[in-house]
Amino acid sequence: MTRRRWIADEVHENTAALVGEHALHLARVLRAEVGQEFDVATGDAVRRGKITSISGDRVEFTLGEELAVRPAPKVILVLAIFKFDRMEWAIEKCTEIGVARIVPVIARRTDTHLAASAQKRHERWQHIARQASEQSRRPAPPEIALPVKLKDLGSAGVSPASRPEAGDKVCHLVLAECEEDTQLREVLTHRSTEAVLAIGPEGGWTDDELQWFRESGWVAASLGDRILRAETAAIVAVALALDVLR
Ligand code: SAH
Repeated sequence: MTRRRWIADEVHENTAALVGEHALHLARVLRAEVGQEFDVATGDAVRRGKITSISGDRVEFTLGEELAVRPAPKVILVLAIFKFDRMEWAIEKCTEIGVARIVPVIARRTDTHLAASAQKRHERWQHIARQASEQSRRPAPPEIALPVKLKDLGSAGVSPASRPEAGDKVCHLVLAECEEDTQLREVLTHRSTEAVLAIGPEGGWTDDELQWFRESGWVAASLGDRILRAETAAIVAVALALDVLR
């Protein structure tokens, strides 16, 4: 039987704790009891954990044996900000599939109201990613970066080499409905160990933005003839990239 997994809020050597709402959920909703065992993700490992105390908004565990975790290939999603309900769906699903990091970006066609309230959404996005991580039994949630303007992606640690070469280990792809046949599967070679995928907003990337991507060393990649909604494109691209890199 698969054991339920929790991502610890605090870890200290052989003990861990869930605090606040996280602990309340375990204690009240799931009626956890002292002595119960769970898998506890500690950031760099997953360990067997046994509840030693439950008090108000704090649940403590002792940590036992380490469980084997298979390393996953690294896929980073640069996600243009679009309608929050659909964007949240993309964050949740891409987390389940195994995205390593999500960088929300304000694109030219991101609605100005959404761009203005994006910073305030950050905490909620982190919460969604964390819940999806526990549900899908990931060892750790993906990092959700603070929203940045497209041109400031470098400050979020995302920038390709100025002249990409075939042997590059990290492949930066901008997803767009391309005329030429540049299927993601073919563009992302098996030599790569890491992929960074940029998905545009509902209205798509502007020509200016696509030119900026190309000049900055990104390669255009397509997901086929259909125009997908941004959230569908994000989910499909992450799944395909993980599959190629695996
Ligand atoms: N420009 C489109 C809509 C964009 S869809 C329009 O006609 O209105 C939103 C984003 O999803 C795009 O910017 C792109 O990154 C991605 N996307 C959608 N369909 C795609 C496809 N077939 N191939 C690659 N990317 C796609």
